[in-house]
Amino acid sequence: MGKNKKLIRELFRSKVFERDGYVCRVCFKTSEVLDAHHITDRNEMPNGGYVLENGISLCSECHLKAEHFHITEKTKHFPNFHPDDLYSLINSSFEKAWNASQALSSYI
Ligand SMILES: [Zn+2]
Repeated sequence: MGKNKKLIRELFRSKVFERDGYVCRVCFKTSEVLDAHHITDRNEMPNGGYVLENGISLCSECHLKAEHFHITEKTKHFPNFHPDDLYSLINSSFEKAWNASQALSSYI
């Protein structure tokens, strides 16, 4: 990972945590190990999707549930963890995240 990418990744984490007030946006647990989750997987977003519009603070328990969707593309076990649900929690959408991610290219 290049220097700029590392910086963008760190900036992504701190901005997401700051916006979310350092709590899990799903269960409101304050956890020492919050994750800045990519709502749409970084491989499916232009420039890795390191933007506020694609990030949400999750505790480790909720993060596992959200990752379950990325792995299986199914939500039957964790119905509230579909990307659309997560986007609505932060007032975003796939389209907003995509557009913001595309604009990142000038920084990388
Ligand atoms: Zn949680």
